[in-house]
Amino acid sequence: MNIILLGPPGAGKGTQARHLVESRNMIQLSTGDMLREAKDSGSEMGKIVADVMARGALVTDEIVIGLIREKLEGDTDHGGFIFDGFPRTLAQADALGALMQAQGETLDAVIEMRVDDTALVDRITARSTCGSCGEVYNDNTKPIPSDGKCSNCGGTEFKRREDDNEESLKTRLLAYYKQTSPLVGYYYAKDMLSVVDGLAKIDEVRSSIAKVLDA
Ligand code: AMP
Repeated sequence: MNIILLGPPGAGKGTQARHLVESRNMIQLSTGDMLREAKDSGSEMGKIVADVMARGALVTDEIVIGLIREKLEGDTDHGGFIFDGFPRTLAQADALGALMQAQGETLDAVIEMRVDDTALVDRITARSTCGSCGEVYNDNTKPIPSDGKCSNCGGTEFKRREDDNEESLKTRLLAYYKQTSPLVGYYYAKDMLSVVDGLAKIDEVRSSIAKVLDA
């Protein structure tokens, strides 16, 4: 089963994707993670995207479609793909449809995680992740344990994303509403869209997503 998690930055896509990887043996394809890896490795592509990402703007369709194409051509022994942060434009959505068709795969569901904008600012500016396993923390709702160890893996290094600040977030939100939110209508018209309340508790969002997947 292949699905898209659609929603603005801070909607909880990464958190839910991580759970689906563990519980359903799915593969998380996060273009944001792939681009951050490229940036950290200092590759040519990483250098090209670094500035755009720090500002919170979108990198070119060509680059992200290329990244996804490579991953789709790999191993097929898994529970399906979770597209997280991709597609973000109509051109990417069309390209994904064509790539899936070429691989003989289908896109089974698009889950929009709906949240309001004030909550996003609060979530993003308070967000940090474990440097070892990627577990997501929030200064207010899920603080790093007082012993300084990640509750999932015991790691002791935590990091904040460079673009998790109010200034970049404004650009990221604008990019979402201008370029990505039309995908809600696009997938609705294709009869593939389901909406979950992204502001509900993590476990409740989990079960709403499970209901969609098991329907
Ligand atoms: P994310 O981790 O999904 O929030 O992505 C972080 C940043 O990577 C975004 O603000 C964009 O600069 C870039 N990015 C990630 N995915 C895409 C995409 N599908 N299309 C264009 N840019 C992307």
